[in-house]
Amino acid sequence: MPIPSSIAIAGAGLVGSLLAWRLLEDAQQSGLKRRVELFEKSSLKHPRAAAHTAAAMISPLSEVVVSERAIYDMGICSLGLWPQWLSTLNKHSATPVAYNNQGSLVVAHPSDESELEQFAQDLHFHLQHENTATWLTGHELRQREPDLNQQFNRGLLLPDEAFLDNRQLMINLHQRIVALGGKIHENAEMQFQPQAVCDGFDLSRFALCVDARGVGAAQSQAVRGVRGEVLWVQTPEIKLQHAVRLMHPRYKLYIVPKPNNSFIVGATEIESQDSSPVSVQSMMELCSALYTLNPAFAEARIIELDANLRPSYLNNMPAIHHQPQQGTASINGLYRHGYLLAPHLIAQFIDSLKSA
Ligand SMILES: Cc1cc2nc3c(=O)[nH]c(=O)nc-3n(C[C@H](O)[C@H](O)[C@H](O)COP(=O)(O)OP(=O)(O)OC[C@H]3O[C@@H](n4cnc5c(N)ncnc54)[C@H](O)[C@@H]3O)c2cc1C
Repeated sequence: MPIPSSIAIAGAGLVGSLLAWRLLEDAQQSGLKRRVELFEKSSLKHPRAAAHTAAAMISPLSEVVVSERAIYDMGICSLGLWPQWLSTLNKHSATPVAYNNQGSLVVAHPSDESELEQFAQDLHFHLQHENTATWLTGHELRQREPDLNQQFNRGLLLPDEAFLDNRQLMINLHQRIVALGGKIHENAEMQFQPQAVCDGFDLSRFALCVDARGVGAAQSQAVRGVRGEVLWVQTPEIKLQHAVRLMHPRYKLYIVPKPNNSFIVGATEIESQDSSPVSVQSMMELCSALYTLNPAFAEARIIELDANLRPSYLNNMPAIHHQPQQGTASINGLYRHGYLLAPHLIAQFIDSLKSA
């Protein structure tokens, strides 16, 4: 059965935007006419999507120690898809989306080295012979990252792990969707009751309505939000080529280089549905982690603080539901794995539409 010729998508976050773009790109490559329209509750100028807040690491190895094995397998598949997809998208974009796949580094302060050892053992337990992580001496660590604190005695390299410039990605996706003939309706709130409805629009003219509302679907699905807080700093004094994870007994932190000498730093998990601004305690922890990585971060400028909710089902696993009789589908629950999983899930969903 062919893919429906008219598709409405609720939510212009990561899932909705990637799905709309892939559907339009697929139609163009196959010489088909396909109407794809995105309905976004907020304005694209002031995005509220988790996609905008995220650090956008694509890190299957780091995640396998705390997740189901399936997350790793889907993540490896996405790691293969991102470079292909970005190469297609970047051909049509004035500012390409930066993609870095030099791998991640995991370090710990000398007094917390047992945390690093534990992480390495967990990785070995989960992946056995597939474990490709490599120990680096302090010297090797500094060859890769001269600006890391000289006190780190050793570190782990998780090869092939990647990160991308997510904010540029969202801009480029939205531009390409419009260039391919798609439409994006801003300030358009869609509901599923279970049929899709949106004030001012006749959605019955769409053969398929896809729910990609993330935490916005919480009222109609068993989706909860899991809070994440991030701090953005800017300094020309420090250069990093890798995403760096800092193991600490109380919290695990990550720092990811972003464009314009900026860095995003965050804690991987805070189990709370509260989306209010960043707390003083979190900010102090994030700043102290930065200081541990390099005391020169003390002179960096804080340029942004952000908190948002990761859309999660109870088991923290993603799910695709398709109800062909009702003409609806949903893709949700990507939790803290949106960038890690979205390409795999979207490719799988489009394939399932083709073979339905
Ligand atoms: C702090 C933080 C750090 C993260 N870091 C990473 C990371 O490093 N790597 C990784 O893989 N993942 C990361 N994530 C997770 C990732 O951001 C999410 O998994 C992903 O964004 C989920 O995509 P989504 O499209 O389902 O939801 P979102 O990106 O949140 O998009 C949902 C969209 O739906 C819209 N919407 C809501 N309700 C409605 C409605 N009724 N009608 C129309 N539109 C609606 C929203 O406004 C939003 O634009 C992080 C998340 C956070 C919060």
